[in-house]
Amino acid sequence: MADKNQLTTASGMPVDNDQQTLTAGPRGPALMQDVHLMEKLAHFNRERIPERVVHAKGAGAYGVFECTADMSKYTRAEFLSQAGKKTEVFARFSTVGGEKGSADAARDPRGFAVKFYTEAGNYDMTGNNTPVFFIRDPLKFPDFIHTQKRNPATNAPDPDMFWDFLSLTPESIHQVTVLFSDRGTPKDYRHMNGYSSHTFKWYNVNGEVFWVQYHFKTLQGVETLTRQEATRLAGEDPNHATTDLHTAIEEGEFPAWRVCVQIMPEKEAKTYRWNIFDITKVWPHKDYPLIEIGRMTLNRNPANYFAEVEQSAFSPGNFVPGIGPSPDKMLQARIISYHDAHLYRLGPNYQLLPVNAPKACKAANYQRDGYMRLDDNGGSQPNYWPNSMGGPEPDPGMAEPPIALEGPAARHPQEVTEDDFFQPGELYRRVMNDTDREHLVGNIVTHLCNAQKRLQLRQTALFFKADPDYGRRVAEGLGLDTKDVQRLAAMSQEERVKATSA
Ligand code: NDP
Repeated sequence: MADKNQLTTASGMPVDNDQQTLTAGPRGPALMQDVHLMEKLAHFNRERIPERVVHAKGAGAYGVFECTADMSKYTRAEFLSQAGKKTEVFARFSTVGGEKGSADAARDPRGFAVKFYTEAGNYDMTGNNTPVFFIRDPLKFPDFIHTQKRNPATNAPDPDMFWDFLSLTPESIHQVTVLFSDRGTPKDYRHMNGYSSHTFKWYNVNGEVFWVQYHFKTLQGVETLTRQEATRLAGEDPNHATTDLHTAIEEGEFPAWRVCVQIMPEKEAKTYRWNIFDITKVWPHKDYPLIEIGRMTLNRNPANYFAEVEQSAFSPGNFVPGIGPSPDKMLQARIISYHDAHLYRLGPNYQLLPVNAPKACKAANYQRDGYMRLDDNGGSQPNYWPNSMGGPEPDPGMAEPPIALEGPAARHPQEVTEDDFFQPGELYRRVMNDTDREHLVGNIVTHLCNAQKRLQLRQTALFFKADPDYGRRVAEGLGLDTKDVQRLAAMSQEERVKATSA
């Protein structure tokens, strides 16, 4: 048997030589019977798995979530039931649109995904560093992402595609405003907040339902890059945020976030000003203040990037008792599509990989077989339910309280209204300071100037609708006539599209 440091083939046979191919004579040819060479090359050819179609470039780390307040009044989730209770986590941060080799400093939302390894199963919070999103109907998602990728003919990013889609999708204006503020280029992964963006359902042991939104507030402080700094970093150090996270943890400077929620009793959703299942909206803090529930600290780097970060798989469908989905259409689609993406990338048994498997409890079910079944596959236990052989049993006590659904089954229009422009307007007018506004306008102008003029006009009209000063300054930066922009802003979206058609 090979000793500890013996190089072996994958089947464990000791390898005698890893430098010289087996050949007939010193000048070759190579012999097919060199099984070590054949195996080494064949495995090398299969090293790459499909890249994530979004969130391809990322970095991750392990850590701990410490609950700081007993939340059992609102949720039966055990990991939130007691101040001081600790739960292991794995977090992955990422850019969204770029490929695996793209720059960390890109202007893009940042993925902010956290897997809580709880005793009641793994709970995944798959958020972003922005509280809202570009679209609110999942049917638009693949098209939206295509516009952020490469032009099918030139294979280069295309400002026309980018701004054409966004200006035809006015509900994107809130997220576009966040994206083009300096928060669209966070300094690194440690200096940014995370948001669930979606509304989720919490329910307690009495079956009472609450709607919640999560906020992870960085304890390092929010820090951002200017577009000039981001452009420089993208060239000089495209992995700057990946390296920063790793180095900080290696040096014992553990990044931490204060974890908060906004909580709304179930019945208030019906009469609240905003549709809380619309991901393009936030819940203003003055209506629903942040309530602290814990602290997340990242304190351990993965030992192997591929095994633990590339193969980490998060799903908004990974709930635990006490937490469930809301009717948000985007969330409903993500529940299906994240799991589906992992089945494609990693195979049907991806949840058996160590980074994805439960750590604080054991998964027990009747799923069997499939590619790369890594465990004992249920051994000799029964593989069907119901059985009277002592197999795992469903627990009716874990049922979610029902929520009432109503309405005709149809493709319901969710028209863009003036409401869609109010919150981005508030962000511009009330939250941003003069420097933020100056950077926002500069960041937009530098990008939008590369699109066709008719697209510049159509998009700038949307900025104008959010706030006239915002639209006027973008128009001036682009050298557009503000009167043209104002005229377009006064039109319906349909008229505006007609007036700016090619
Ligand atoms: P508040 O003044 O209570 O909160 C403003 C929020 O905006 C803070 O959370 C702040 O985060 C955040 N913020 C500051 N600068 C930016 C920026 N450039 N891009 C994105 N967010 C920023 O106001 P409201 O709750 O009434 O919200 C007003 C507007 O603020 C909203 O329309 C929305 O655009 C934005 N916002 C609201 C959030 C919410 O959940 N209510 C969350 C994030 C943004 P920090 O404390 O970390 O500085």
